[in-house]
Amino acid sequence: MSLDQQLRYYEERVKEGEKAHSEAAPGIKQHVYESKVSPYKAILRQVRLKAGLLICWGDVGCDAYPDSKCAGGQHETCEEHTHSCFLCVRQST
Ligand SMILES: [Zn+2]
Ligand SMILES: [Zn+2]
Repeated sequence: MSLDQQLRYYEERVKEGEKAHSEAAPGIKQHVYESKVSPYKAILRQVRLKAGLLICWGDVGCDAYPDSKCAGGQHETCEEHTHSCFLCVRQST
């Protein structure tokens, strides 16, 4: 698969997983998320990096397109995660 195809493939998997998650019974929601959403989000982020696209550094499970910078001003994050940049957190510990 080309990178473009991989991007589309994993975006589709994430969407399907999120749909399954939203329809799942409360008791298994967590399980559905962990098995069908978060692994694909993690892969999607890797593929985006490989393709030279930006990803949000505020949360490993975030697949939003980053449109702002972290509080440290050095890394791309989405608006929701400007104050939880894990690259900055790692550097300061
Ligand atoms: Zn984010
Ligand atoms: Zn940062």
